[in-house]
Amino acid sequence: MAVHTALPLGELLQELYPQVVAWRRHFHQYPELSFQEEKTPAMIAQILREIGLDEVREKVSSRGVVGKLIGKKPGKTVALRADFDALPIDDQKEVAYKSKVPGAMHACGHDAHTAGLLGLAQVLAKHKDEIPGTIVFIFQHAEEENPGGAIGMVADGAMDGVDAIFGAHVWSTIPYGHIGLAPGPVMANTDDFIIEVQGKGGHGAMPHETVDSIVIGAQIVNNIQTIASRNVDPQESIVVSMGTFNAGNNFNVIADTSRLTGTLRTFTAEVRDLGERRLREIVEGTAALNGGTAVLHYDRGYPALINTEAETELMHQVAASIVGEDHMIRVKPVMGGEDFSYYLEKAPGAYIFIGAGNPEVGATYAHHHPMFDIDERAMLLAGEALGRTALQYLYEHEGTEE
Ligand code: MN
Repeated sequence: MAVHTALPLGELLQELYPQVVAWRRHFHQYPELSFQEEKTPAMIAQILREIGLDEVREKVSSRGVVGKLIGKKPGKTVALRADFDALPIDDQKEVAYKSKVPGAMHACGHDAHTAGLLGLAQVLAKHKDEIPGTIVFIFQHAEEENPGGAIGMVADGAMDGVDAIFGAHVWSTIPYGHIGLAPGPVMANTDDFIIEVQGKGGHGAMPHETVDSIVIGAQIVNNIQTIASRNVDPQESIVVSMGTFNAGNNFNVIADTSRLTGTLRTFTAEVRDLGERRLREIVEGTAALNGGTAVLHYDRGYPALINTEAETELMHQVAASIVGEDHMIRVKPVMGGEDFSYYLEKAPGAYIFIGAGNPEVGATYAHHHPMFDIDERAMLLAGEALGRTALQYLYEHEGTEE
């Protein structure tokens, strides 16, 4: 594959770097939580209009923004996506652009995703003549909170007519200058569950008159460990983790009920089904064995994010032409979730991880940490990787539109 380099995207983005940094730092200081975003999407829409995109649609699925750049030549349609929600975390960094909103922080880099994509839109809008096809810029709210913003964006037409989609995440545990990518599953099916155990309360000194919901809950926690160790094929992946266990309120009272919550993560539909089935059997069976009852409430969240083969290869070639093949990292799948997967259910595409770690600028903390920060130059790499991938896709499919 010959990587198209007609448009010097890297240089053009570099000229916009102060603007992109200013946007990111503004978003960083005024973070908005999932499904509460108002000022952020309004600002995005205003910038997209000033840039002069051909279409700007606000309030997509109530909070998202979709911009369209229609090239001067006919061709396919490729979408690029950024998310823009923050997390319920207190920013503990001491920097000039620290969050001004108590209890809210851009601790995952979504501010950078949005600023980077805005920069790319501004550059590409000035080069419409050279674009054979349409580029759709999807700015999505609420990535961090189930059911997520993507599912609604898709339902509200964000992917209509889109032939391929690409996305990027800045990643603080990958050093700046490196790019991570892999075909196939890279993020997991992320399901949550609640277990409600009903026993029979009573005096702590007379256990034989009771059904102890704490004993049942404790046995459930132990028994579900066998899902990973005894039920699922060792070559497959699954995580079953308990997050909370609440029961009782006095030292000499047998707890009538207990309530447990957790998360179950997998990569395939088969393992997901098996995990849910075994969880239910163990919950109900363990309770019955002890003379109580238990109910499992199982909530299926984001589907696994699966990069398609051809689009991953295209993106790899483009990214390697930017940072060099020796700076490409084949990322291992992680059991985290990402609702970019909903777009990939509608069109082929790929999701890439842009190294943003750099001890010299304090970017050494993991995502969702209260000290999280990035090397801001990663925004340029993300913009360049996404932009050149989109152009490459359009060039390669030039003249093949219906
Ligand atoms: Mn994220």
